[in-house]
Amino acid sequence: MNSLNRNFKKFFLIGFVLFCFSSIFSKNVFFQWRELDASSYFEENGSTYIDLEVIAKHANRSIEVFNSTLIYIRGEKWNVFIFPQNSLAILNSSESLSFYPNDLKIKNGKIFLTSELMAKVMNLELISNDMSIYLNIPLARVTSITTIIQKTDARIIIELSSTPEEIGVYPLVNRSGYLLKIRGAEVADSYIYEEYKNKISFIKAYHYSPTEVWIQIKLNNTAELNEIFEDNRIILDLTFEENISLPVLVLDPGHGGIDSGAVGPTKLFEKDITLAVAKKVQELLNPYSINVYLTRTSDVYVDLHDRAMFSNEKGADLFISLHMNDYPSDKTVSGSEVYYFDFSENAYARRIAYRENLDMNVDKNIIQTWVSDKGNSLKQSENFAKILGSYINGNGIRFRGVYKDEFAVLAYTRCPAVLFEMEFISNPEVEKKFSSEQYINTFAEIIKNAVIEYFNLK
Ligand SMILES: [Zn+2]
Repeated sequence: MNSLNRNFKKFFLIGFVLFCFSSIFSKNVFFQWRELDASSYFEENGSTYIDLEVIAKHANRSIEVFNSTLIYIRGEKWNVFIFPQNSLAILNSSESLSFYPNDLKIKNGKIFLTSELMAKVMNLELISNDMSIYLNIPLARVTSITTIIQKTDARIIIELSSTPEEIGVYPLVNRSGYLLKIRGAEVADSYIYEEYKNKISFIKAYHYSPTEVWIQIKLNNTAELNEIFEDNRIILDLTFEENISLPVLVLDPGHGGIDSGAVGPTKLFEKDITLAVAKKVQELLNPYSINVYLTRTSDVYVDLHDRAMFSNEKGADLFISLHMNDYPSDKTVSGSEVYYFDFSENAYARRIAYRENLDMNVDKNIIQTWVSDKGNSLKQSENFAKILGSYINGNGIRFRGVYKDEFAVLAYTRCPAVLFEMEFISNPEVEKKFSSEQYINTFAEIIKNAVIEYFNLK
């Protein structure tokens, strides 16, 4: 073995050991909790230097360099001039910041700053430990939501700890109210919920993602909105329309036309029972302050998806689908069951995307509004299901319980929705009571009373 070869091996070995040390001691750098490529930073004299251009790109800011005498960082609400030769930076034309000459290094034409200086000139939050450096866009904290409600108008004031990245206001689909999407924000205690039972029904602020807050404002009356964005404050002025909008109930008589549904022992059809009950409910609710619509008023076939869309177009506040249960193998089985939608956020988003022909990425906002509406309607759906159950019990009919299932009509309705399996048509006693119209009236009465209680109708 010649000496050159030996020396090469020695150097190689030392180099390898040094490499191992450096990779043990160099920290990993993250932006917004995502790890950056190792080529965008290096360690020197105990400091971590990070590529300014890489961070600027991630933080949505542009950089202009003038002969290495001036670096200009430009963001929507953030401007910085760095004078490398003077080791000085001017933040937002107001604050000057001196740094050590060693805090800024130029390597291969690229500008590198220490993590500390980077955090200051980019206005980022710096979290550092022995292993890692995290640079994050600081989140604006929603500190309070206050409302001033007057006769014809209301003001909602949302206070934030700083200016968030982006604010979007969208009307709720098919119901009175608005959805605010605040990017680069967080909510104290991760959740705010206020109920008003007035012109405003409720205001709910919650995390849509770790860095995005959604505020849902559900109104009982329709209102015009005027929004004012100040630095740390969002003001929403609502002007309510004179006439109070009546609650909307959509009754969905199951089956119809060629689809007769279940058939009783003496050939009574489910489709005829459901239509008769729906019409009776509409008649019984006539004297009350509520608008009642039926998805079909005659013996016709209506597609399940169309039934749900009819309800959405009417801006329904409650949807009740009427059905008859069937258990021919044991004709003694009887009783009522109420169902509401079995919801899982991801599965639901995929289902809506597929059914509505939407793209999971391009139409993200539309899909998210669907998911949010459905998720929020579940508590009310369950609430109504329980009210309905309480009136069934009072009529000597066995209440078999409230269940969750993925019925299509319950999936595509945006409002609280239940599917009511009134009784078992396979039971001859039950069929007889429906034939004689006794049960048509009994069940219409049960539904009417539950609706009156649910909407607190006068
Ligand atoms: Zn049915």
